[in-house]
Amino acid sequence: MLHLAENLKRLGTESAFDVLAKAARLQAAGTDVINLGIGQPDFPTPDHIVEAAVKALRDGQHGYTPANGILPLREAVAADLHKRHGVDIDPDCVVVVPGGKVTMFFAVLMFGEPGAEIMYPDPGFPIYRSVIDYSGAKAVPIPLLESNGFAFSAEQVLERITPRTRLIIVNSPANPTGGVTPAAEMDKLAAGLEDYPDVAIMSDEIYSEMLYDGRQHRSILTYPALKDRAIMLDGWSKTYAMTGWRLGYAVWPAALAPVATRLAINCHSCVNAPTQFAGIAALEGPKEPVHAMVAAFDQRRKSVQAALNGLDGFSCIEPAGAFYAFPNITGTGRSAAELQDLLLEKAGVATIAGTSFGEYGEGYLRVSYANSEENILKAIARIGDAL
Ligand code: PLP
Repeated sequence: MLHLAENLKRLGTESAFDVLAKAARLQAAGTDVINLGIGQPDFPTPDHIVEAAVKALRDGQHGYTPANGILPLREAVAADLHKRHGVDIDPDCVVVVPGGKVTMFFAVLMFGEPGAEIMYPDPGFPIYRSVIDYSGAKAVPIPLLESNGFAFSAEQVLERITPRTRLIIVNSPANPTGGVTPAAEMDKLAAGLEDYPDVAIMSDEIYSEMLYDGRQHRSILTYPALKDRAIMLDGWSKTYAMTGWRLGYAVWPAALAPVATRLAINCHSCVNAPTQFAGIAALEGPKEPVHAMVAAFDQRRKSVQAALNGLDGFSCIEPAGAFYAFPNITGTGRSAAELQDLLLEKAGVATIAGTSFGEYGEGYLRVSYANSEENILKAIARIGDAL
């Protein structure tokens, strides 16, 4: 009899992967499944990025790199952040890791332990809650409501702070809702946090390049008063269609960057070298492929919202960012999980129940528009028939 550690029982998962596995089984058995469950761009990584990795391998970049990432990549990140957010970042505060997820794991490991409280968005990316539970900290949800465009408000966050709060996790543009928190609300939150100097904040900005209708992103890095306790998570997965490369980074407060690096040394040593060179090419190369991809998502977002609103029992507010719609399905009379299973089995359409992202996701489905417009419209028509 093996004795596994008790805390493993508290480690959750991303149940989206279960739906995707079920969809793959149905597909293998000959069912035509249209996948609107996916959380990754349906575009290839731009050629110049792929070529940079191939060149790095041919040039002999086969060895370990510094644990926090090669300096030219961290400098390229700092230059990109200056361009996008107008901030001056010390490349030594940048820690390059294998994907966006690693930063959230490290941040929660740094602050989470029994007796501590960590806030997280609900519905939100499921790994936040999973890792908070694993750490032994108390997970305190910030409910994201349709009535507020699925944005968090500063008031909601500030009123949940207690003497035990160590870390607040926020995410805008958001998975799974497509919600975006307005810049003015971020300003209010940042100002309110000045009263709580012992509370850190991790802002997951992995979708910050995917905003529509001229909305502006306000990075947590733009608030000098939070410099010593703001962690900004970003990466290449979504913006450059690089999910499988495993490349992300965070900007850490100067005192925490060495701690993140120590965790990296204990865990994965470094990100594979050619991928880091690909990351430089992505940041310094032509941006047209990114703009074309975001323009395609913008177009699809409008057709998805219109088509979903045409379904009996569905209503869908306009997604403001990322590549997800989050329709309210309470009018169908079914729970989110029931509807997810029914649509997969009867319509051959994979979507994800809102409850996969937290209890406040009940009554909603996540519909990803990272699929061709033709497939999306065909899928929604099939959903209409099944309903
Ligand atoms: N943060 C959010 C909000 C996400 O939706 C995802 C991926 O779906 C990630 C982080 C993780 O990204 P990565 O694949 O780079 O680990």
